[in-house]
Amino acid sequence: MRLALFDDYRLGVVESETIRDVSSVVPNRDAEWPWAFVPRFIAHFDELRPEVERAVARAEARPLSSVRLLSPLPWPGQIVAAAANYHEHHREMAARPHRAGQQTAQGEFFLKAPASVIGHGGEVAMPRVAADREVHHEAELAAVVGRRMRNVPVEKALDYVFGYTCLLDMTLRGFGDRSRRKSYTGFTPIGPWIVTADEIPDPQDLQLRLWRNGDLRQDTNTRDMVYSTAEMLAYASAVMTLYPGDVLTTGTPAGVGPVEAGDVVEMEVERIGRLRVTMLPIDPAQPVAEIGLGSPRT
Ligand code: MN
Repeated sequence: MRLALFDDYRLGVVESETIRDVSSVVPNRDAEWPWAFVPRFIAHFDELRPEVERAVARAEARPLSSVRLLSPLPWPGQIVAAAANYHEHHREMAARPHRAGQQTAQGEFFLKAPASVIGHGGEVAMPRVAADREVHHEAELAAVVGRRMRNVPVEKALDYVFGYTCLLDMTLRGFGDRSRRKSYTGFTPIGPWIVTADEIPDPQDLQLRLWRNGDLRQDTNTRDMVYSTAEMLAYASAVMTLYPGDVLTTGTPAGVGPVEAGDVVEMEVERIGRLRVTMLPIDPAQPVAEIGLGSPRT
């Protein structure tokens, strides 16, 4: 099942080019931050599923193009992101000039800010940074946690996955803490919907592609991951408790590169769908937001 949020945070089920409104199954649906109905719906999905299916049968099929899709996870509690988790991408990052002699730690994760999330068709503001800094695209497969996870072994980890979606881990390259460089407003597009886990038999066998202005830039199968989705989930659950609606994004394959204002960035994961965003120009009114706060006061 493909679950989407649209228009005024309505809940929809997508089938080919149509969407059906099933909002009636979430009576406490809130159209404002923090959209608490989303993780609650995910947590109770197994019980609610028959009701969702009945609502689908009743609802009118509207053209998908007639609605505005929103991120299916507008406010995930945690966005856990795998670092350098594809073999070929690890090699391309090690080869970048400023990285001479440095190795990116593998089998590690970092966190992205929930406030950086946007949805399909959204716009990413280019941050005001030094002219020689690059903003890069990173197309990734993301797993959505369905049940509370604490110290879950690798063999059981995928049983806790609610579904999968596309995620763009937009990144300001270069020095500085990763959690800041990857958390500028709009830097975490998610969507266009969540595909429930029953439709993805093996998250390690999905083709993943990204286009910049129509040019194919990333094209790899998820089997090239260094650590599997299950291994990363198990590891994260041994560090902190994961909750329904939390996201694990599994890292990007080779082919990362710069984006500029006006670019259209589009990614696709097999069996899931296509996520598209546009890069906006730099807002000249924005303060420069990359140099830190300067020398500490003495
Ligand atoms: Mn990434």
